[in-house]
Amino acid sequence: MAAVVDDDGSIRSKHEVDVENRSFGNVVDLLETTVQGALADAGSNVVGIGIGSPGNIDTTTGTIRYSPNFGPSWNGAPLGARVRERFGIPVFVGNDARCATLGEYTYGVGRGTKDFVLITLGTGIGGGIVADGNLVLGTAMGAGEIGHHQIRPTDGFVCGCGKIGCFEAQASGTGLIRQAAALASSFPRSMLLAGAPADLGSKRIRKAAQAGDPHAVAAWKNYVADLALGVANIVAFLNPEIIALGGGVSKAEAFLLDAVRPRVDALVTMAPPGSSRIAIAQFENDAGALGAATMAMRGGLTTGKVA
Ligand SMILES: [Zn+2]
Repeated sequence: MAAVVDDDGSIRSKHEVDVENRSFGNVVDLLETTVQGALADAGSNVVGIGIGSPGNIDTTTGTIRYSPNFGPSWNGAPLGARVRERFGIPVFVGNDARCATLGEYTYGVGRGTKDFVLITLGTGIGGGIVADGNLVLGTAMGAGEIGHHQIRPTDGFVCGCGKIGCFEAQASGTGLIRQAAALASSFPRSMLLAGAPADLGSKRIRKAAQAGDPHAVAAWKNYVADLALGVANIVAFLNPEIIALGGGVSKAEAFLLDAVRPRVDALVTMAPPGSSRIAIAQFENDAGALGAATMAMRGGLTTGKVA
């Protein structure tokens, strides 16, 4: 998705495109077409292009060091250089989850705080940390990979990264599907299992849990327990003012918050109970675009004031 964003954080227009072939060459071609469309809308006042991409990124050049979910054609892919060459205006590339964190922090639910964490519960778990007003990037852009801290290293699901029981493997939207699948033998007549396996999505499980379906309720309970484990770990490490939950599963809103908050309170031992507020993120899919635009306006992944 390419968006035209004004400096007050309002989105003027959006250009969306489906990506089927994830090879670097194909994605860059699609990206150039959508950016072209966005630039035509934006007129002459464009300060730069900000791109949120999966993977570990060298933000000084905009080169993707590696991006496990997108395949080997992305290793060392010169994304920034390629787009810069094509459009001739400043181009900034940052990790998509860090961009989303910057977007939520600047314009969304994190606004006005100094210590903030975003966790997006989607296909995986993306995240980012703002500590004392600064987006935490780490010495080699590896900070904030909250999805890959292990919470069930002995009895968990296998993560896309190869480890067992990563937070992402247990508590992403995909994790919710795995929780339901793991309980299937206990619910042979489950309504959830009536369709094709591919139809068993996290949204369906969440809605069935809300409606009281026993299989979905059991899966949801295990899911919430694992989510709470990870969130309580974040409180122990950072005790942020707000931990925002985004992504598909967060659409359960109060149903999710009411379940997860007491479990986190029970697991937090060294910070005052409730001192880290768990909230629903504000922007759904737009957070990444807002953060990428903020990065372009500020000349990097920084939480400082717009120059
Ligand atoms: Zn992992």
